[in-house]
Amino acid sequence: MKVYLDNAATTQLAPEVLEEMLPYLTEHYGNPSSIHSYGRKAKSAIEKARKVVAKYLNASTSEVFFTGSGTEASNTIIKGAVRDLGVKRIISSRIEHHCVLHSVETVEASGVRVDFVKLDAEGHVDYANLEELLQSSSDKTLVSLMHANNEIGTLLNLELVSELCKTYNAYFHSDTVQTIGYFPMDVQKIKIHFLSGSAHKFHGPKGIGFVYINSEVHIKPLLDGGAQERNMRAGTENVPGIVGLGKALEVSVEKMEANCEYIGHLKAYMSEQLLTNIPGVKFNGDRSANGGNYKVLSVSLPPNEKAELTLFNLDIAGVAASGGSACTSGSEKGSHVLEGIHADPARKAIRFSFSKYNTLSEIDYAVATLAKMFAPAIEKVSAE
Ligand code: PLP
Repeated sequence: MKVYLDNAATTQLAPEVLEEMLPYLTEHYGNPSSIHSYGRKAKSAIEKARKVVAKYLNASTSEVFFTGSGTEASNTIIKGAVRDLGVKRIISSRIEHHCVLHSVETVEASGVRVDFVKLDAEGHVDYANLEELLQSSSDKTLVSLMHANNEIGTLLNLELVSELCKTYNAYFHSDTVQTIGYFPMDVQKIKIHFLSGSAHKFHGPKGIGFVYINSEVHIKPLLDGGAQERNMRAGTENVPGIVGLGKALEVSVEKMEANCEYIGHLKAYMSEQLLTNIPGVKFNGDRSANGGNYKVLSVSLPPNEKAELTLFNLDIAGVAASGGSACTSGSEKGSHVLEGIHADPARKAIRFSFSKYNTLSEIDYAVATLAKMFAPAIEKVSAE
């Protein structure tokens, strides 16, 4: 049996998304900058996708720019805010994705002050500390805090942070890569200057993302080149990718509530089954319905001499999961997120992340496989 439970790393391309993309990989190959019919066909497909994103965000189409990834979106924002908006200080957290953390390090090297907000043991931002930090300096500030953590799922209160940023006249960016297409997002209700998104996290293709930039804010592009994306992102557009992003978002939004309920149930079921079958199991992050991302379950396994081999053994049994962030797997360093919340280093963490394509029987199989490793007396499971 093959079970994919690593949907925070990436998701399966939805069949209807592939279908929508295919003509743009074959007959509709025009360059969107060309003025002939081939170019116009490609251009109008891009604008259709932009409308989908803008509608979802309740933004204007002129505030949405396609990028090559979520990583590029966050780089564009953080580096652009420092270069073009007079930002002298960044407030972020130690558990951000590396695309934010490393961009912040880059601007720090050029003299920007960086403050990391305090976090609790579940990875929640200490909002009182955030307010203290905002109060403590009159330097122009960018707050960059992710909506849902990709390793432990803990959610940020976007509304509260946006209010604080408004009060203290700070710019607000949120890395929403893990939540776009999974949670409602309304930039009229929640005042935010920048958002980052990435299609492959919501059953779209890889290598395509977007950035939302509020129309009151003007930053320059990261890349120098042509005038694509209204001068915000040079380089010939990834037309099939953009078409795929639009379709994937449309499909996700259409079924958002049902998906939330279904995926949330898979997560709750897996938590229960693990608690029943693995003595001493715990979880990292906030698992409550409102405090955590319903697609991510970070399992903290009881100390065991074979724990280091857990991911490997799961993989042998056909279960794909992740040891924290996929972006750091293969590197010798432990997870900066687990370190950031002071998780017990003696306990191995395994991240399971779910999608609408997973089933309860897949969860049963993954739990039985894991239970066998941690409680060998439990009935042997078949690897069929
Ligand atoms: N931000 C978060 C929270 C992520 O989980 C990821 C992907 O792992 C990224 C940003 C990067 O997105 P992309 O893979 O499109 O560069």
